[in-house]
Amino acid sequence: MSFLQRIGGELTLEGVGLESIAERFGTPCYVYSRAAIEGAYREFDEGLAGIPHLVCYAVKANSNLAVLDTLRRLGAGFDIVSGGELARVLAAGGRADRVIFSGVGKSRGEMRAALEAGIRCFNVESEPELERLDAIAGALGKRAPVSLRINPDVDARTHPYISTGLAGNKFGIPHDRALAAYLKAASLPNLRVIGIGCHIGSQILDTAPLDEALDRVLELAQSLAAQGMKPEHLDLGGGFGIRYRDEVAPDIRGYCEALAKKLSSAGYQVMLEPGRAIVGPAGMLLTRVEYLKLDKAKRFAVVDASMSELMRPALYGSYHEIVEVSERGAGAPQRFDVVGPVCESTDVLGTDRALAIEPGSLLAILSAGAYGMAMASNYNTRVRPAEVLVDGARALEVRPRETIESLFSSEKRIDDAPAR
Ligand SMILES: *Cc1c(COP(=O)(O)O)cnc(C)c1O
Repeated sequence: MSFLQRIGGELTLEGVGLESIAERFGTPCYVYSRAAIEGAYREFDEGLAGIPHLVCYAVKANSNLAVLDTLRRLGAGFDIVSGGELARVLAAGGRADRVIFSGVGKSRGEMRAALEAGIRCFNVESEPELERLDAIAGALGKRAPVSLRINPDVDARTHPYISTGLAGNKFGIPHDRALAAYLKAASLPNLRVIGIGCHIGSQILDTAPLDEALDRVLELAQSLAAQGMKPEHLDLGGGFGIRYRDEVAPDIRGYCEALAKKLSSAGYQVMLEPGRAIVGPAGMLLTRVEYLKLDKAKRFAVVDASMSELMRPALYGSYHEIVEVSERGAGAPQRFDVVGPVCESTDVLGTDRALAIEPGSLLAILSAGAYGMAMASNYNTRVRPAEVLVDGARALEVRPRETIESLFSSEKRIDDAPAR
């Protein structure tokens, strides 16, 4: 994260000191860099500049309205996976005609809301979904724009929990069923078939599987064209990996430029759906050391953040770099497991980390802008943290820390609960 710099021994984001952010907003606290989000988006957008394209940010990675607002102002589209995300995009000022709707389980209500809003496209993942969408569009007197999500059966070579393009997976329409599904879609009166897409997984570091998937999609697009059903757009999904530890992230601009070159005369609009690559490196979780437990076989640093705020290490065994915000004090580094207060043995944020810390030290858990706050829960009745967007010299509180009362304000004691 190039917007992260150490100045006079203190870690800063866009030049704003992180100690002062922690003092103002408390800990734990998510902090994002607006410039980093914008810079990452432009890698995609400028890389594809040679061809018609729409970069649809995958909202689920980080759905804070300020993040969506930042991207909307740059002309981004949005890839949503629920009616809730549609409502967020609209609340952030996003345009419905730049929204594409992915996901295997769209409900009737979600379809209705998206049709009424006038979204750009439904990425349909099964034949029963085609039928449901056709019926709902018909009832509303509309024609639903659809693209089929094809499962290209390529191995994204990433973590099995975040690999989505293999045959044995719940996502997409099997490659060998695709033509039949297109014929079916074309036969339904209230659908308008406009695209073809795929999304093979997340945290992809090697772009060869993406190229393979593109070839499969292109092949299919050509067979469709031969049958008079040439799609208007190709959607190649998201999944671009980032550096958490020592990974080499793909060169996004270079990948997009090569893509634009390859498709320059193919006559399609190209869509991508990046989430992690846009917000992941742009965010961090600030946390303070509460206690050092030194009397066990291992040394533990107990911090005020936990798996409730950042679930990725507990869920996927993910690695996040953890660094001291201030280099002052605390002597020579020693090895610690960094753990939270939650009552689960999986509540570990990092193992065996060399840190020079004492109680009260501030730590930054890096590359936490994607699938961090978006996956946070209230487990152990913990309030979700504040979110702060650093924008040049300003630090904007784009979501205040929750209050404890708000966590149970809609719950009822037995005598107060209405019987239904
Ligand atoms: C999750 C998801 C994305 C975004 O994935 P990243 O790894 O965050 O880029 C894009 N498209 C679809 C359909 C998704 O489910």
